[in-house]
Amino acid sequence: MNRYLCEKAQKLIPYTPGEQPKDKRYVKLNTNENPYPPSEKVLSVMKQCIDGDLKLYPDPDSSDLLEKAAEYYHVKKENVFAGNGSDEILSLAFMAFYQEKEVLFPKISYSFYPVYCNLYNVKSTLVPMINLNVDSNKFFNRNKGIVIANPNAPTGEYLSLDVIEKMAETNEGQVVLIDEAYIDFGGESAIRLIDRYENLLIVQTFSKSRSLAGLRLGLAFGSKKLIEGLNTVKNSFNSYPIDRITQRAAYVSFEEEEYFKQVCHRIMKTREEVTAKLERLDFVVLPSKANFIFAGCSIISGKELYTALKERGVLVRYFNLPDISNYVRITIGTDDEMNKLVNAIENILGY
Ligand code: PMP
Repeated sequence: MNRYLCEKAQKLIPYTPGEQPKDKRYVKLNTNENPYPPSEKVLSVMKQCIDGDLKLYPDPDSSDLLEKAAEYYHVKKENVFAGNGSDEILSLAFMAFYQEKEVLFPKISYSFYPVYCNLYNVKSTLVPMINLNVDSNKFFNRNKGIVIANPNAPTGEYLSLDVIEKMAETNEGQVVLIDEAYIDFGGESAIRLIDRYENLLIVQTFSKSRSLAGLRLGLAFGSKKLIEGLNTVKNSFNSYPIDRITQRAAYVSFEEEEYFKQVCHRIMKTREEVTAKLERLDFVVLPSKANFIFAGCSIISGKELYTALKERGVLVRYFNLPDISNYVRITIGTDDEMNKLVNAIENILGY
């Protein structure tokens, strides 16, 4: 026990991010980063920022960036919010909308949600899965806060916009938060529904499809009321969450549409190819619309596979939970990285 911690902090159970070992160079397929770099133009504006006005604070409201994002997604600037990574936005949203209330989320989902519940005294109800799929019916007419990762993590399952719309419609008066961290890998964003549902909040990130995990930027989209709510808590917490380099790089990233689409398509193509290869090796691979796959094999546990892959220089993620202990989550890397993964698996299984 740490005697300096206040009582509440002593009870926190922090999130554990995927490991970032430094002992050797791994094929790193464990934290859903993009294997491709940001575009040349994005990199060059970042360099310009370094030579520019870093001695000055950034724009606290990220005004130019919000305007650009609004134009890109055909919404108004008052409907957009920027945070230091989507994790920060999720944290602010739990603080603003769910504190002392109740939220529902799928039993298997992003493991940061229960951490925020613990932090902000939110009662959480974990809705059981049906064969590792989200039981959508259990999220209609609940009159509770709803948090859904779409596509879900770590399973990769994508729920259609009809389902998301019904969640927003039938839980009117409660915030329905859709975490779209992986939406650009084959799903359709629910941003176009925010005009119709004042209670719908969409959270996205620049860490995955836009290759900028190292900068830390997330965006949220919602009604004026929800965005005002986020700004109130943000400005009670940190006035300058988005640095100058990030504001500029993200702005330019929206102008690099061709490059962005190419990168996403490349990852989706690799995802389908590696899925087929693993299925040939008798793996069950859940259908994924994310930049990762969730794959399991009946003859080796997730933990054993993770350990054997790590010994062979390939990092994946496994979750020590009863329903998914036979699975590992594998980030989609370059084709070369995925070949190394498949070769290592063949070697482990004695093919
Ligand atoms: N939501 C989900 C579902 C995620 O998997 C992640 C990545 N760990 C995040 C949000 C957070 O992403 P970031 O903070 O890098 O924007």
